[in-house]
Amino acid sequence: MNDTDSDRTALPRISFVSLGCPKALVDSERIITRLRAEGYELTRNHAGADAVIVNTCGFLDSAKAESLEAIGAALNENGKVIVTGCMGAEPEQIRDRFPNVLAITGPQAYESVLGAVHAAVPPAHDPFLDLVPAQGIKLTPRHYAYLKISEGCNNRCSFCIIPKLRGDLASRPAGEVLREAEKLVAAGVKELLVISQDTSAYGLDLKYADSMFQDRTVRTRFYDLSRELGALGAWVRLHYVYPYPHVDEVVELMAEGIVIPYLDIPFQHASPNVLKAMKRPGNQDKALERIHRWREICPDIALRSTFIVGFPGETDADFDLLLDWIGEAKLDRVGAFKYEPVRGAAANDLGLPQVPDEVKELRYRRFMEKQQEISAKKLAAKVGKRLQVIIDEPGPTVSKGRSKFDAPEIDGSVFVASRRPLRAGDIVSVKIERADAYDLHGIAV
Ligand code: SF4
Repeated sequence: MNDTDSDRTALPRISFVSLGCPKALVDSERIITRLRAEGYELTRNHAGADAVIVNTCGFLDSAKAESLEAIGAALNENGKVIVTGCMGAEPEQIRDRFPNVLAITGPQAYESVLGAVHAAVPPAHDPFLDLVPAQGIKLTPRHYAYLKISEGCNNRCSFCIIPKLRGDLASRPAGEVLREAEKLVAAGVKELLVISQDTSAYGLDLKYADSMFQDRTVRTRFYDLSRELGALGAWVRLHYVYPYPHVDEVVELMAEGIVIPYLDIPFQHASPNVLKAMKRPGNQDKALERIHRWREICPDIALRSTFIVGFPGETDADFDLLLDWIGEAKLDRVGAFKYEPVRGAAANDLGLPQVPDEVKELRYRRFMEKQQEISAKKLAAKVGKRLQVIIDEPGPTVSKGRSKFDAPEIDGSVFVASRRPLRAGDIVSVKIERADAYDLHGIAV
């Protein structure tokens, strides 16, 4: 055994499994940052760890099944398992199946997770604080980072249990968010991905209170935060925005080049009947008007959305209306889900008929086919243009990156041929030469 190995055996080791959405990833990053600050070492190997933390996702039944599987695997391979995250809000589901887990804590229960780790594996004597970079430990590549601006949600969409799990909207003061963003940018982050459950509602719970940032006051408000973030010098990408009228002023920031021209708006459906049953926020009847207005303000804005097909009570007419709507909205990127009843969601008690699985499947395929045509046309229209591309995965001759119109992990890529070597996080100008159904291909100029 060499010196390094003997040092390592002195450090308590935690294996960490992070499941679920970007919001859960941010929770994982915070827990890991704290663990590293206290001198714990992270390992990907359950077998060699002193304990395992599983950050679960409880949103859909399929995500719950994945979480339970991860807990089972951790118990088999290690035996000392701490469960946190969304599924932890309903501990009996986990206890029934795995009575031996050491502790179960709910989402954002950072202190409880740390307490459970301390009980299972006491921290090393020296806290190794100097091992922690000022911006925390990122699970995402160093050149982009998720920035969580609030927790919880004041809406009560009938298919969703997030407000039950995470509570009402609780915004972080603008100054606090901006200080975190500033540190991230100073540490080399080139793209900030703003996330929350409802980004456009940011600050409502704090009555848009002023907070200090640098030597001035900034309102805890969507527009003010977006403008200040845009001034930090990184790409700022906005996720989970609803089509409220006050979003128009943020789109103006996009037209001015302050925030990148990308909006992720989960529309979920277009039929008034379905939207009513879903209890969706915002005036969705006016959603098309809003989209047209945004395109007037910022013609190259990229719009991404998600939709649910096969919601209880969705008729053929509702579905046809949805198809017509996406034909008119011409969104750039779209994800779709087949409705899955989530335990505890109000949608289960609406008394509406379930859509049979084969109908859901058919509608899903028709929906995706129609959207693929639209997305492909939109991509084809970019051929011949020059786009700024951020490099995610450098390669010897071709690197993989994204334009301002693509978010990491959910949208498409731009494959960039280059004579000079590129590095992750480089932002290069690319002449687009070819498009396929999802991606663009071009040459660095
Ligand atoms: S807006 Fe609706 S779907 Fe989104 S978190 Fe809130 S309740 Fe859930």
